[in-house]
Formats: sequence, C-alpha cells, structure tokens
Amino acid sequence: MAPTRYLNTEAIILKTRPVGDFDQHILLYTPHHGKLSALAKGTRRPKSQRRSSLEIGNLCHIQLYHTTTNQKIIVQSLVKETFQNAKQNLSGILTVMTLLEMVDKSVQLEYPFPVHYNLLKQLLCCINKQNTKSDKHLYQRTVTLFILKHLQLFGLINDISKCGNCHQKHWSEGYLLYHSYQIVCAGCRHRIFTSTMATTINYNTISALSNVQKNSALENMKTHDWKEMYRIAQDLLASHLKAPLKTPAFETLTA
Ligand SMILES: [Zn+2]
Repeated sequence: MAPTRYLNTEAIILKTRPVGDFDQHILLYTPHHGKLSALAKGTRRPKSQRRSSLEIGNLCHIQLYHTTTNQKIIVQSLVKETFQNAKQNLSGILTVMTLLEMVDKSVQLEYPFPVHYNLLKQLLCCINKQNTKSDKHLYQRTVTLFILKHLQLFGLINDISKCGNCHQKHWSEGYLLYHSYQIVCAGCRHRIFTSTMATTINYNTISALSNVQKNSALENMKTHDWKEMYRIAQDLLASHLKAPLKTPAFETLTA
C-alpha cells in the first residue's frame, strides 16, 4: 500500500525564510510529528491569501503534501490563533520569540513530543490572556517556566525535591553542578564533587524550583525567588545550548 501522501496537523509556526522570488521555507512545530520543515509555494506573492496565516508564532491547521522525494509542501493553512494580544508590546513579543527560538534550537527535527508541544501552546495561550503591558514580570516568569519545564521534560535536570546524587531530601542549601545540570546537597558537593564548577542555591530557591517541577504554588512565589530561578534557568540554558539565543533578553533592551 502506498504511504499516505497528505498530512493534516495542528502546528505552531516557529520560523520562516524566503526561498526564490515567491516561496517560503517554514519551520513548524506539531504535536504528533515534532518539528517539521516544509515549503510554502507562492506565499510571498503580493496577493497570496495564505501569507498572513503563516506568520511566526501563529497556531494553524496545516495540510502537508509529501512529494516522492519526501519534501513537504504546505497545501493549506488556516489560522486558529494569532496570539495578537501577546504581541502588543515589547515584553510580549520578546517572550513569544524567546520561546519559539528555544524550540527551534533545542528540539530535533521529526521528534514527536506532544507534552512539550502542549507546554509551548499552553504558555502562548497564557501570555495572550494576560495584560502584557502591565505585567512587568511577564518575560522573566514565562521564560523561566519554559526553560525549567523544558529541561525537566527532556530529562536534563534531576527531580529537585531530592539531591541529584544521594537522593536524600535534607536540604539546607543546594549546589548546581554545571557539567551535569544536577542539583546536589551540600554533603555530596563537599565529599564528592569538590573540584566541579558549581553555584550555590539557597533553600528558598530550591523549594521554588521544586514547586515549578510539581506545578504547585506558583502564584505564591516571591519576586526574589523568580529572579533567582531566572538566573539559574539562564545558566542552565546557556550550558545546554552552548550559545546564547539570538532573541535579545527583555532586560537587555529595557535597561
Ligand atoms: Zn546528596
């Protein structure tokens, strides 16, 4: 039996790149097929009706056609959500762009991960519902949440309710080990990992990190804890990606 040549899927537009005079290369993130690279023909023609549906950050219904050479062509696209409210100001735009760039850089092509896709979609919906203008912590909190949940879903960080080495729960303070992305207790740090690059994390931040992993009590978290977690999340992301993101961080543009 010939393989199905058409694929209908929901997708978030991660990136677009012009090809030739009128076409576009589109990078999609889909729930059940992961990140996909596809060609949209004629969408840069002035009268193209599909052009606006394929803008970065849109949530769409997409129909793809697989050619015999296994190239993917977008034959239909219908917008479900543009997240317009989220893109009303700098903080909102940079938050959306940072999340999309992280997915682009850290998820492999055609690696399906529905839970991760839903995390991105959920956060985009959440930013869209907020008043991005009045929430001055939007960028820091959303980016922190996404990085920490991302690392957890990909198994790149240990369960923070326990030491990553001895699995005991006796925290007074913790140490983040840069080479392994593990958070370990003071005992393990001093006995075993003495020569390893590490940064100290106080008890409150450990509890806050653990709450993020368990999705609990986020609304009671203090501004200081978010700030600390943001710093840790940035450190972890930098060592994980080996290069900084291209999207500038919100604070660098507003400082
Ligand atoms: Zn330990």
